[in-house]
Amino acid sequence: MSLKDWFEQKQKLYDSIGDNVEELKVDLEDLHPKERQRLAVIAELTRRSQGLWERCDNCESMLYVKFLKQNLSVCEECGYHLQMNSTERIESLIDPETWIPIDEDMISEDILNFGDEESYEERLIKYQKQTGLAEAVQTGVGFMNEIPIALGVMDFKFMGGSMGSVVGEKITRLIELATQESLPLIIVCSSGGARMQEGTLSLMQMAKISSVLQIHQIQNRLLYISVLTYPTTGGVTASFGMLGDLIIAEPRAYIAFAGRRVIEQTLHEEIPEDFQFAEFLFDHGLLDLIIPRKLLKGALSELIQLYIAAPYKLNQPPNFHIVNQLHEYYESDKSIDSDNDTMNQSFD
Ligand SMILES: [Zn+2]
Repeated sequence: MSLKDWFEQKQKLYDSIGDNVEELKVDLEDLHPKERQRLAVIAELTRRSQGLWERCDNCESMLYVKFLKQNLSVCEECGYHLQMNSTERIESLIDPETWIPIDEDMISEDILNFGDEESYEERLIKYQKQTGLAEAVQTGVGFMNEIPIALGVMDFKFMGGSMGSVVGEKITRLIELATQESLPLIIVCSSGGARMQEGTLSLMQMAKISSVLQIHQIQNRLLYISVLTYPTTGGVTASFGMLGDLIIAEPRAYIAFAGRRVIEQTLHEEIPEDFQFAEFLFDHGLLDLIIPRKLLKGALSELIQLYIAAPYKLNQPPNFHIVNQLHEYYESDKSIDSDNDTMNQSFD
């Protein structure tokens, strides 16, 4: 038996016991002390092993989280792209220590007083605690291979990346900032669609974002690239997801407006198996490129450079306020470093 098989078998055992730990506690009294001790050890190991391993959604291989993170959450067995959270995504795209977040403290309110199994307010607090984020999107500016960009990254782990008024407003403000500063804009989409707890308020975000994109792309002739990841659906696909000058997807990304069942019931016919996956959409002309995650940063910066070199989208000199500030910041940082160096040298 290989070491990997041994780990897999152990993990399966822990999983099956882990599920029943609560019930086990009740029955422990009836067990022989030795058996009780053995189960306690396994329960402890289960607790400790949580967060160390992840199962690939495609080939079901057990993946050691440390190596998986180093591999940008791509399965080393089958190459499947597992979901990434927004912070990991920013780290993978933005040069270290150049990220400046904007509107971080904007949070949603339960305007409609909406509740199902739990109230919308409770649900928001739960996801804020779980993810450490205030909302389902992170926006900001930073350098990508030394090119200044405006970046928005949606987080599926926060209420399925659903688009409520705050998500819409943060993206709108990001686009307005990119327009004002003549920055190339990239939005990484990952969403279940509009947030039903906010009713029409979430639906109107689609129109709001589309209109500021029109100002960014058409009136100011600036670049917008949308990156679609697993899964991009509903109102996000129907607005800024599909409005990119370039629309890029990750391999096997699920991209849809309505779900499969809804379409089949409406059309009264069966749709193909791989329908709504990036490769199928690419073959039918809905996407411009499919780029594996490891090449994404390099490809994006190369594409932006192409646009800068042939600026048919740009009819005015860039107005890099924020970028200048960033430059000043890094220059001062460097001068501090070089001061230290000279100081060290003089001490030597
Ligand atoms: Zn796999």
